[in-house]
Amino acid sequence: MAADPTAILRELVRCRSVTPAEGGALAYLGGVLKGVGFTVHRMTFTAPGTASVDNLYARIGSGSPHLVFAGHTDVVPPGEEAGWTRPPFSGDVVNGVLYGRGAVDMKGAIACKVAATLDYLAASGDNVKGSLSFLITGDEEGIAVNGTVKLLQWAAERGEKFDHCILGEPTNPQVLGEAIKIGRRGSQNGSLIVAGTQGHVAYPELADNPIRGLTGIMSALIAEPLDRGSQHFDASNLEFTSVDVGNRIVNLIPGEARARFNIRYNDCHSRDALRALVERRAAAAAGDARWRIDWDPSNADVFLTAPGPFVDTVCTAIAAVTDRRPALSTSGGTSDARFIKDYCPVVEFGLLSQTMHKVDERVAVTDLEKLTAIYRRILNAYYAV
Ligand SMILES: [Zn+2]
Repeated sequence: MAADPTAILRELVRCRSVTPAEGGALAYLGGVLKGVGFTVHRMTFTAPGTASVDNLYARIGSGSPHLVFAGHTDVVPPGEEAGWTRPPFSGDVVNGVLYGRGAVDMKGAIACKVAATLDYLAASGDNVKGSLSFLITGDEEGIAVNGTVKLLQWAAERGEKFDHCILGEPTNPQVLGEAIKIGRRGSQNGSLIVAGTQGHVAYPELADNPIRGLTGIMSALIAEPLDRGSQHFDASNLEFTSVDVGNRIVNLIPGEARARFNIRYNDCHSRDALRALVERRAAAAAGDARWRIDWDPSNADVFLTAPGPFVDTVCTAIAAVTDRRPALSTSGGTSDARFIKDYCPVVEFGLLSQTMHKVDERVAVTDLEKLTAIYRRILNAYYAV
């Protein structure tokens, strides 16, 4: 009998694994995987000033090719519980739809990966021609310090080598099979600071108003696009998020003005080249203003998993089940793929994104069945060689 992703998802949803709580989700997952022959490791990572987080790594088989199913069992809080059609940790199914926090982001995809794996092992006589792993964190929705980053380091130190990864984030805007993600834009925050000379507003010749310099540089940075996009990415975008002088005095020229901004950037730039470009443009517009840019540290660099055989394997499986050829998307925010890409090529494909983080997060049982069939086809194709 085929494994039932809906039953597995219901078990996972019933675990109250709001970040950083494990809630029993990893224990359940570990038990299921151990039962079919996986070697299961549970690691708790800690760092000063942060909550400890439980993680799981499970592997079956040896050598390559080595496919890793990555994901997270932690969820965001349910919000107003009274607003839910069914309780957020019930996993109740009503009219073919399962309700629960994490239904699409992303316990649902994990349940489908597990169901596909159980079916694959049953059909292949528990024989993986290579290795299959689950890399599951409990710290994706939080600050992501004690999760995937450390889990990947831990695995590398053990000598684990991954050839390809499928991350189960919800990638489809409306309907299953619409889109996979083959990359993500980078994210870089910065502060533009202009120093002036404080003085009396009636004697501007004795002062130097930093707001003049700040607005001049801001205008220049907004005026010209950073690029026109690339083959797989939209144009990069610089967005100012705050302008701060903090001056409450009506007859005072302030001594300093600042603005904060965020850049979502594509593969036309490395992070260093992007910073240099912005600083060149600021310098050109600054005149004699005394300015500087403070760049925040960033762990979200742009990446692209170039189309090729692995991306084709995923797309072909999706097309076979859904009759849709998925778009190769790089839109949206960041995900743990930004860390995984340093170890192996990563593609993201999961459920629908419509209800993630919302009241009444939910998934159609038919989508769970289809996603299981897609992952199952990927396993067949991946280990067929
Ligand atoms: Zn997620």
